[in-house]
Amino acid sequence: MTPVPPPGDEPDMAALAETIKTWGRELGFQQLGITDVDLAEDEAHLEAWLAAGHHGEMGFMAKHGTKRTRPEELVPGTRRVISVRLDYLPAEVETTKVLGRPSLAYVSRYATGRDYHKLMRKRLATLAKWIEAEVGAFGYRAFVDSAPVMERALARKAGLGWFGKNAMLLNPRAGSLFFLGELYTDLPLPVDEPFETDHCGSCSACRTACPTQAIVEDRVVDARACISYLTIELFGAIPERYREAMGNRVFGCDDCQLVCPYTRFTRVSREGDFAPRHDLDRASLVSLFAWSEEEFLEKTAGNPIRRIGYERWLRNLAVGLGNAPWSRAVEAALMARLPYPSDLVREHVRWALDRQREKRRQRIASA
Ligand code: SF4
Ligand code: SF4
Repeated sequence: MTPVPPPGDEPDMAALAETIKTWGRELGFQQLGITDVDLAEDEAHLEAWLAAGHHGEMGFMAKHGTKRTRPEELVPGTRRVISVRLDYLPAEVETTKVLGRPSLAYVSRYATGRDYHKLMRKRLATLAKWIEAEVGAFGYRAFVDSAPVMERALARKAGLGWFGKNAMLLNPRAGSLFFLGELYTDLPLPVDEPFETDHCGSCSACRTACPTQAIVEDRVVDARACISYLTIELFGAIPERYREAMGNRVFGCDDCQLVCPYTRFTRVSREGDFAPRHDLDRASLVSLFAWSEEEFLEKTAGNPIRRIGYERWLRNLAVGLGNAPWSRAVEAALMARLPYPSDLVREHVRWALDRQREKRRQRIASA
């Protein structure tokens, strides 16, 4: 921990802000910015998005009223938000090759290793302790995707990046494959310049590449059509009209980030926790579909996939298998799941089997 110059009676907020940035780097964050709590513009954007119903079943997006867009209502006394960035792409992870091999399962690249929440929260807590050691007791709360927080909007205001047409936060030197975390604080720290420049220009590669055309306007994603929502947030049946377009994406989707020209500036993560486990970056659909519930619970302990549960995991994999090229192994794997005691799983398995049988018929007819 880098020492702060001895404080006078009143802490020097400008010096403290600089020191906090140094501490952020020491703690492994790639970037740290500070913003005020005025999100009026983003509040209007969120209200329009909710009014259009783009949040689908994510009732939690609407339920907290203005607490999401007014940090001082969520944590009374908040005057500043410290926003941090943590890059997550491991060096050895496969990306686009797996998408091109439909017998393999594509898991969003943030989810092939250990979950990031604990790691990030611990570091934010350490940062708060270091600040406290310098200025004495102060008001703060750390958030890592855990409460109604407009994390991308706060990060943009704190100077970490701009909103791409895919609605992700993009950094011109680091792309968008990173996590964000926040420390709400009552310290009157000087704020950073918001990121105002839009570097997308005439590019619209993300909109073109989206398999389900979920990016309905620049910077507006209709979650109901987004594969990340369909495979992670949605509890019931995946609407049939999206199943074929899902391809082999069984947990999340990265297409609109992978095609982005700024993704080539992604910095590889040195965090051991994010290294892929259980071959989740390259496993076959059939092998994952064969996991028992016990194996699922064991292998996804500490992994973001755990939150969707075994039933939805099978649901998603069944869709992937329906989209896979025909093979005896795929058909047998689906047949073996027909008696599974869940209407949701059985319906998706039947859909997949119908598609596999049709592919077999076409194969025989063309032989
Ligand atoms: S995550 Fe996938 S489905 Fe969702 S907007 Fe991006 S490309 Fe489209
Ligand atoms: S793909 Fe192009 S339009 Fe989309 S976010 Fe990246 S730069 Fe912007």
